[in-house]
Amino acid sequence: MEKNTQADQVINYVYIHVPFCLRKCSYCSFFSVNFSREASSRFVKYLIKEINLFKQKYNIKPKTIYFGGGTPSLLTSEQINLIISQFDIVETEEITLECNPVNIDNKFADSLKTTIINRISLGAQSFMDKELKVLGRLHNAEKIEDSYKILRNHGYTNISLDLIYGLPDQTKKDVEFSLNKIMQLDPEHISTYCLSLEKDVPLFSKITYIPSDEKIAEFYHLIRYKLISAGFDHYEISNFGKSGFESRHNLCYWKDEFYLGFGPSAAGYLNNYYPEPFGTTQDRVSRRINDEENITYRYNNPANIEEYYKMLDKNEIIANKTILNNDDHEKEYIFLGLRKTIGIDLGEFKNIFNTDFMDKYDHVINKFRNLLDIEKDKIKLKPEAYFISDEIFSEFM
Ligand code: SF4
Repeated sequence: MEKNTQADQVINYVYIHVPFCLRKCSYCSFFSVNFSREASSRFVKYLIKEINLFKQKYNIKPKTIYFGGGTPSLLTSEQINLIISQFDIVETEEITLECNPVNIDNKFADSLKTTIINRISLGAQSFMDKELKVLGRLHNAEKIEDSYKILRNHGYTNISLDLIYGLPDQTKKDVEFSLNKIMQLDPEHISTYCLSLEKDVPLFSKITYIPSDEKIAEFYHLIRYKLISAGFDHYEISNFGKSGFESRHNLCYWKDEFYLGFGPSAAGYLNNYYPEPFGTTQDRVSRRINDEENITYRYNNPANIEEYYKMLDKNEIIANKTILNNDDHEKEYIFLGLRKTIGIDLGEFKNIFNTDFMDKYDHVINKFRNLLDIEKDKIKLKPEAYFISDEIFSEFM
């Protein structure tokens, strides 16, 4: 059989990291640098070069495009249109722009309507001003509500809000307050995050007290209970969506799909070769086992803007590759698959990895039997296991 080349590969998922912020929030470890119009123009020029270098190697037909950051809402609509125009968007269903409430006014929203962005992820984080201040956010709670209403008035019907919990000195009442505010706004999707600090972020050295694990678990279960009662589907450990509004882009990560990441610090997941039409995971894995050239890997662009530019000046892409052997892939498949509340399909697992999940992992299953739901062809976490999922995942590793 004649081998296909990388140019035959169809990549359906695209992430774009926009590496600018107006000011660094005190808890944030995402890569970003100070914003200026000049810096952003330079970035877009290089980003387009990166996209076109990839296009020489891969057939990119995005079903989803996700502008994350950083602060993608610092881009102008002309820049957003120019970036989107680099792709074949005939089959694109979802284009998300992460927005900082501080950037949203009527002028911004009028201008955004000239783009085909159809999903907004609004970085609310909390509806308590004292918490927003601790987090170093540039907006207050009133500004979140204003921004949300502006976006709604401009016809955006797929809006996600972020909520952080586990903040210093936070009480259950505080979490409930923000949750109630969110539910009054009635977004289509909510992503929740438990505050977790890297040692080098300013908030790390400032905090004196964070809620205990028991308290944080209580917050998590409160969030889950209230959002499910309000009609949200809890489709992934940290994510809730109304029916039909699950994040299609983020699902690609948990479903083990290949994706490209553009921009400094962006990550991608690729395979050197697999057949057309777009292969199933099983095709990809069996080919990887049988073909030494068939390598699956993750890559990371430099988390340094000048290094990123230097890489592209040399017409290079894909700086740091981590090759996944079959065992690595199997662990990732389990870890990511069990994050979905529908769990892992045992038949698919057997087809892909040529091994029986229940036999191979019986020691883990026995240890956590009362936290796992095992049906004929599925295994999933019970809701009471979601909060301690990391502990369970580590046993599979
Ligand atoms: S949380 Fe968002 S806005 Fe704040 S510094 Fe990080 S990327 Fe920038």
